[in-house]
Amino acid sequence: MAFLATMATLPWTMHERANAKPVKPTWQQLVVTVDDERAVELARQWDAPFAVEYAADADITVSAVSHADLVAGEATRSMDGDRIGGCMLTVENPSDVVMLHELGHCFGLHHDNGHSDSLMYWMQGGDSGAAGVTEHDRAELRDLYAR
Ligand SMILES: [Zn+2]
Ligand SMILES: [Zn+2]
Repeated sequence: MAFLATMATLPWTMHERANAKPVKPTWQQLVVTVDDERAVELARQWDAPFAVEYAADADITVSAVSHADLVAGEATRSMDGDRIGGCMLTVENPSDVVMLHELGHCFGLHHDNGHSDSLMYWMQGGDSGAAGVTEHDRAELRDLYAR
């Protein structure tokens, strides 16, 4: 039982710890741009409180690395106080779920480990409990932007 309890507290990954802050920064603009057509298409599932559009010189940059047989992603936000100013999304052979999960980070969400059916529930080296953005995830994003 003690082992299981410990495992349950472990899913924070390095990039999340680095970004953990008491404030919860958000995008404070009406349009957030992404330099990847697939990510723009997938982002619609989030029903975000801002428009997501394609731009070559974008707020969210997607770069793919393909040196390993991994399906992985990492999102690094740049913040200015309570404002998100940019996000670097690095992916490796990303599935739609990985792209959607990392977009969730770029939009301002952290891991949601209280809800195992959330797309933002994430075990290190494991899988999300969801196959896509759920109603719960959309509600968490709405709450974040409703402050
Ligand atoms: Zn994550
Ligand atoms: Zn939740």
